[in-house]
Amino acid sequence: MPPKKLKIPVRKAVLGLAPYNAPKEGRAKKLRLDFNENTVGCSPAVLRALSRITAEQMGIYPEYQETTKRLARFFRVRPAQMHLTNGIDDALHLIADTFLEDGDSVLIVEPTFDMYRFFSELAGARVTALRYDDEMRFPVDAVIEHLRRPAEIAPRVLFIATPNNPTGTVVPKSDLRRILNAVTRTLVLVDEAYFDFSGETILPWIRRYPNLLVARTFSKSAGLAALRVGCLFGNPELLAVMRGACSPYPVNTAALVAAEAAVADKRFAQNYTKEILLSRALLEQGLQQFGARIYPSGANFVLADFGPRAHRLVKALERKGILVRERKDFPREGFVRISAGTRADTRKLLRAMKEIL
Ligand SMILES: *Cc1c(COP(=O)(O)O)cnc(C)c1O
Repeated sequence: MPPKKLKIPVRKAVLGLAPYNAPKEGRAKKLRLDFNENTVGCSPAVLRALSRITAEQMGIYPEYQETTKRLARFFRVRPAQMHLTNGIDDALHLIADTFLEDGDSVLIVEPTFDMYRFFSELAGARVTALRYDDEMRFPVDAVIEHLRRPAEIAPRVLFIATPNNPTGTVVPKSDLRRILNAVTRTLVLVDEAYFDFSGETILPWIRRYPNLLVARTFSKSAGLAALRVGCLFGNPELLAVMRGACSPYPVNTAALVAAEAAVADKRFAQNYTKEILLSRALLEQGLQQFGARIYPSGANFVLADFGPRAHRLVKALERKGILVRERKDFPREGFVRISAGTRADTRKLLRAMKEIL
């Protein structure tokens, strides 16, 4: 509904948007297992690097060339195959700005990351949502059937997260290969926000598939959600077109410094990932002991089906200062997405659950 006092016309696409369920405020002192963040935060080396930023640096608009070069080396791509973004959210916005016209069709597979739908609808596109089945399997045949439709109705963009949020499941590489071999005029974004926990990537495929973009973020394993920095990878021509639609300074200097320091501290990253994988195993085991059905996760969270107990459980945990995410975008109630913090975090969660259930 247009606001009553506003005399300025607002785009129809904006008025029609469903509000995004962003994290609540006031989460700082709680055990935050609701948004898949890093519960211990970034490497101390990142804080040291940030404290060395000078007043002069603060007064200058950010420059991207050097950081892009160093990060490109880390990701084993050429600088021209990489574009820095203000988190993956910004990359999604940029994709919509570059490729989507009013009324274009976008394909997603739900349940998935809400921002694919949000930025597509904001651009005025029509979203077609296929669904994971009851076993949380990716419907590859149905996806390919949509990609093969005549050019006028084929999706302009296909968004895929792997591991997928909130299911945690990994889309098999063989499915991704079939999809990329089937596309002609569709841009495919493969969102690898949780790559560090699955170890599976198709990043090298950007050399082979001109329609492929791969996204990564420093928000999850690197513990830099507050600074907003991510990377988009693809073939140089594709990225050059997108740079033309991009705001001039999407990533700030602190984020650049932090990202460089984060990739330089390999030991922190390795130790953190190892800790989370142990914690995830503990979490999976614990959840099954409470009779919840879980799905195999390649990410730093687990989707659990608690059936009719879910809502009461989530509320009771909240009263104990533990935040988890109840997902209401399933055909029925009962699904809870729980992040794996450290093993100490997981033990605290499981003790609290034991008291409640
Ligand atoms: C958390 C998440 C992101 C968020 O990335 P930002 O870089 O913080 O914008 C992107 N994709 C998926 C699938 C996520 O779960």
